[in-house]
Amino acid sequence: MNSQAMNVEVENVRSASDVVVPNPSQGSFALQAVGVHKTYGSGEFAVQVLQGASLNVRPGERVAVVGASGSGKSTLLHVLGALDQPDQGTVEISGQRLDQLSEKARGEARNRLVGFVYQFHHLLPEFSALENVAMPLRIRRVPETEANFQAMSLLERVGLKARATHRPGELSGGERQRVALARALVTRPSCVLADEPTGNLDRGTARTVFELMSGLAKEQGIAFVIVTHDMEIAQSTDRILRLQDGILQAT
Ligand code: ADP
Ligand code: MG
Repeated sequence: MNSQAMNVEVENVRSASDVVVPNPSQGSFALQAVGVHKTYGSGEFAVQVLQGASLNVRPGERVAVVGASGSGKSTLLHVLGALDQPDQGTVEISGQRLDQLSEKARGEARNRLVGFVYQFHHLLPEFSALENVAMPLRIRRVPETEANFQAMSLLERVGLKARATHRPGELSGGERQRVALARALVTRPSCVLADEPTGNLDRGTARTVFELMSGLAKEQGIAFVIVTHDMEIAQSTDRILRLQDGILQAT
């Protein structure tokens, strides 16, 4: 997301500051998708991407999603994270249907319940690592001192306390992904959706970032859905699902 997009999001959420999102129910799944369908375009140009994809992820569980390029993995993560709506089927995050909320309330619920990590870090270049990590809390109007305190503790957890004042351009690829991971976790979400988070890193750095994600998932009871091409990483998760012909199959 570029800084302009982030600013738009900040404004949208600020104007929705009176929206109260109920606490998530203590259901047994952090994330539950049932029979999700998603088609792009229509008529002869229709691309049926998801055709009944279902998945349940428990708190603290790490699930890898693999599949050919163009099989719909990114589409699936967008629908799971309520960035996009399914044509059919349901998605619940901590027992909540985000699609039934107004757009403003959905943005706020997404900010609170879901963390995203992408292949490219999407950090805001003009802000420090600390400011980037604190951003989701600032969007939620957490006071600066408290937001910075929580952001710093996450940066410390990913081994980057000493880099807090550095801007993304002054960090290595692996360090940027660790900052992106800290930013995804700072709101203590129910689940983190990671789209090829290590796809742009060398093997050793990829492993380090994955192990950090894994440790934090277990420690904080956060569910992780990780799209990856790296079979070594996939095999280190709790479960591998393959997206093929629009559905998720156990491997
Ligand atoms: P993956 O992440 O597995 O590579 P994607 O979810 O990005 O796959 O894409 C799945 C299919 O949907 C591809 O054929 C892609 O071209 C198509 N697609 C993705 N996003 C859009 C969109 N916004 N509009 C039209 N087609 C799209
Ligand atoms: Mg993709």
